[in-house]
Parts: sequence; C-alpha cells; structure tokens
Amino acid sequence: FVNHSVVDFTQSEVRSAFPKAIDQVRKNLGRTYPLLIGGREVITQDTLPSENPAKPEEIIGLICQAGRKEIDSAIVAAKQAFPAWRDTSANDRAQYLFRAADIARKRIYNLAAWQVLEVGKQWDQAYADVGEAIDFLEYYGREMIRLGKERRMGRAPGELNHYFYQPKGLAAVIAPWNFPLAISCGMSSAAIVAGNCVLYKPSGLSSVVGYTLAEIFKKAGLPNGVFNYTPGRGSVIGDHLVDHPDISVIAFTGSVEVGLRIIERAARIKKGQTNVKKVIAEMGGKNAIIIDDDADLDEAVVHVLNSAFGFQGQKCSACSRVIVLKPIYDRFIWRLVEGAKSLQIGPSEDPANFMGPVVDREAQKRIVEYIQIGKKEGKLLISTGVPAEGYYVPLAIFADIKPEHRLAQEEIFGPVLSIMKAETFDQAIDLANSSKFALTGGVFSRSPRHLEQARKQFRVGNLYLNRGITGALVERQPFGGFKMSGVGSKAGGPDYLLQFMDPRSVTENTMRRGFTPVRDDDDYI
Ligand code: NAP
Repeated sequence: FVNHSVVDFTQSEVRSAFPKAIDQVRKNLGRTYPLLIGGREVITQDTLPSENPAKPEEIIGLICQAGRKEIDSAIVAAKQAFPAWRDTSANDRAQYLFRAADIARKRIYNLAAWQVLEVGKQWDQAYADVGEAIDFLEYYGREMIRLGKERRMGRAPGELNHYFYQPKGLAAVIAPWNFPLAISCGMSSAAIVAGNCVLYKPSGLSSVVGYTLAEIFKKAGLPNGVFNYTPGRGSVIGDHLVDHPDISVIAFTGSVEVGLRIIERAARIKKGQTNVKKVIAEMGGKNAIIIDDDADLDEAVVHVLNSAFGFQGQKCSACSRVIVLKPIYDRFIWRLVEGAKSLQIGPSEDPANFMGPVVDREAQKRIVEYIQIGKKEGKLLISTGVPAEGYYVPLAIFADIKPEHRLAQEEIFGPVLSIMKAETFDQAIDLANSSKFALTGGVFSRSPRHLEQARKQFRVGNLYLNRGITGALVERQPFGGFKMSGVGSKAGGPDYLLQFMDPRSVTENTMRRGFTPVRDDDDYI
C-alpha cells in the first residue's frame, strides 16, 4: 500500500486542471439528485438545496430527501442484497474497492472541484480529500484480503480450530460535511468490504459530493442494494435510521452532541431487534499545540497557522489552542500575528486565498458569537476583514485564555485560535490535557527529554512532534481519538475493519472413527 501523492503545483497541467474542472462543474450546477435505493433512482417531492458558501445564490444542486418511508425501503433493499454479498469472498469484495479507487483517480480534479464549490475547500485541500478517499479504498481492500483468510488456532492433536469473521449485517453510515468524500468513502467502503450492506446518509451541506460517491460505487459495479444513497435531514430521519431494529452497525462521524445521542438511542432495544448495535462514533476535538521555550519558531509559526486556519479551522484535527512557554510567549505571539496578517481571505476557487468561507450561515453566526465571547475572556490580537458576500468570518487570535474559559473548552469549528501561557513544560502538558476531548495534539521543542515526556503524558489519539497536527494519512497515521472525541478504532488503521464484523470460531474433532468417502450417487454402494 502506498498513499496517493499530494498535489504538485509545480506542474503547469496541474495548475490549469483546476480552473478547467471548476468551469466544467459549474456547467452542471442546479441539477436534481435522486436517492439510490436497491440500484433504482428514487425522486421525492421534498428536496433540499445545497449552496456555494462563497456565493449563496449559486445553487450546487437540489437533493431529494429521504423520509421514513424511503429509509424503510432502503432497509428492505439492503436486506435483500445482504446474503449474497455476505457470501461473496473477501477477495472479490476487495476488487470492487480497487475498481472504485481507479475510477476516483481518473476523476480526481472533477471530484475536487465539486468540493471547492459545495463546501469552500481550497484546491489543495479538496485534492487531498479525494486522495484520502482513494487511500481508504486501496487500504481497506488490502486489509479485508488479510482478514478474510481463516486462521488456524492452537496446535492440539486431534482437533482443528478455525477463526474467521462474518459481517454484522446492515450498516448506517452517517457522515459530516467537512471531509465530504474522504470520510463518507472511508466509513462506507469499510462497511461494504467487510460484507455489510450500507444506508449512507451524507450531511445536508455536502450531499452533492455524497452523490459523487454513489456514482463511483455504481460505476465500480457494486451489486444493487449493497450501497444505498439516502440523504435526508438528520432531524427528520436520523433517529429513525439509528433506532431501526434491522440496523446492526452505525458508523458516525460528526459532533459530540449528535454522536452521544446516537450512542444512547442505539443502546435501546426495539421490538423485533436481534442484534446489539455496534456504534463507531468519531467526534470533536479541542486540540492544542505546545510551543516549548527552545522551539524553532520558523517552523512552529507556519505549522500553527496551517493547523489552525487551513480550511477555515473546520477540521476535527485543527489546532484551536496554542500553549506557549513564558520565556518566548511575547516573541511567538508577535510572529504568529504578523504571519496571520499575510493570510488572504476570499473564495476558495481562487488559489490566492488562504482562507475561504465557512460552510453555512449557521456556522458563521456561531463563530461570530464565539469571537464576542473571546473578547470578554481574553485579549483579541487580530481579527481580519472579510468579503461582503458569502459566509465569511474573520480569522481571530486571542491571548491570555485560561483553562476555565469557554474558548479553552468548547469546540468552535472555525478560525478562532486561543493562546495560553505556561510557566513550565509540566504545566503546558497539564493545560493541553485539560479538555474533555482527546483527538490531536502537537509539540514544538528541541529538547529530547520534553519530546519523550510528551509521548507519555500528552494524552491524545494522534500526537505530532515538531510538525503540523492536521492531514493524517491512511495507514501512516491511523486517525481517531478517545475521551469525548470518540469511541472506536482508528480510521485508516489495522483494527478499523474489525468493528464491522463478528468473529467466529469452529472446532472440529478430527479423531473420528472412519469417514464417508466423497459421495457419487451413481456408484455409491
Ligand atoms: P453534525 O452536525 O454532528 O452532523 C453529522 C451528521 O449527523 C450529518 O450527516 C447530520 O445530518 C447527522 N445528524 C444530525 N442529527 C442527527 C440525528 N439526530 N441522528 C442521526 N444523524 C444526525 O456534524 P457536522 O457539522 O457535519 O461535522 C462537524 C463535526 O464533526 C465537528 O464536531 C468535528 O469535530 C466532527 N468531525 C470529527 C471527525 C473525527 O474523525 N473525529 C472528523 C470530521 C469531523 P444533517 O446534515 O442532515 O444535519
């Protein structure tokens, strides 16, 4: 397995491919997107518009919305498809993922362009998202081939023990908008390759990108009913999907509020239910980077800016707290703020802009409210201007934030960075850990002793030493947190697929008396 390479803008054909792909996508805006249930397109009266956050009057598409009735028919389709899919060999199931990866590779600029317009991703970020989707397909395909081999257990004479896995059944995949293809593709492909049939609910804010995933799986030839595209309002169908007695596994990525609600509801057994539901929930973060007093600031400043403000800070892995050792507090802050002043804000389709719009009006309102809270809790160091049209928010940096402040504890999911001062490295670690979340974290230090201490004591799912804290790669940095950041094994890691399957063991006594020869009815005596 090798990761898909990052985008190379030194190649002129790569630079020209983006505007071309964006123009092409623009010609296809405003279409109506059906649901896909059991291989059939289903049109509903109820549709939801998806808009370009940089230009809200530009409608990306109208997405048919599943109600309870459509979810029920998708359950029927998935149940029908399940026995044959379950009994398809692991190797054959993996081939569908490899085909899907080939299709995505060929369409990479087109798939990225849809993200630029639907959620305001920058070119490089959108390309990386598609690259990650391809990585999930390639990696989980290989993982299933590995796990699909029966294992012989023990070596006791007269006995054969075999250990193997079977899929859990029907999976609900409930995805966020911020990595609109990668996360949707990762959760869905894992469920599918493990032998489950999927009902996929994309976020209402990125359902057109969600449809591109359905197109890829369709083109890869997945049997009807194995992957069902069922977008719908979380507030309308979310509970129905989660509560459904025929759903055995729920793969969710999103906010802690929705994640905990799903975990609670999934634990209640409904009439006719025969499985205990498994919930995989990847949730939020309040991630910190520690700047030690001997840190290389040339490195630290650039990486903090990227980790905090890349894709407008709308990554679960984004840096939202910087904890700076007292001796370099003032110098670091001065350089960080000067660096931040150089970041241009505007539509993501223009590569001159470092930051684009946030995803919708609600996010814009929420982030602006946090900036007001920050003004009361700390000292506002910078708040940049924003374009008049579109859902933009200023990039904001606050100093003198204390651990008890809301800015230090709550996930904002926008370009708002809080700076905290630490007297000692021990205190910096304590501050970093003083959050209900434990997703990512980072340390910039030249001290091997401090880096070693951070390895042991900085308790997060993904810790990065002397580098940025976003952009985890499949297989190289399996991704996911604990505490309130999630329950489940890391995405893109060696344990991930196991969550979609149940292990079985078969023991045979081979010390039997005699045996029946292969039976051929014609000459059987
Ligand atoms: P969200 O509001 O929790 O929504 C996530 C998904 O849940 C959407 O598809 C949403 O549908 C659906 N949903 C809403 N209410 C539901 C209900 N009652 N039952 C079932 N599903 C329901 O999160 P988001 O705004 O899309 O994403 C941002 C959050 O995701 C942040 O907190 C971020 O940290 C987290 N995140 C975590 C990771 C990770 O790996 N740990 C990765 C990416 C993002 P609608 O769109 O229709 O409401």
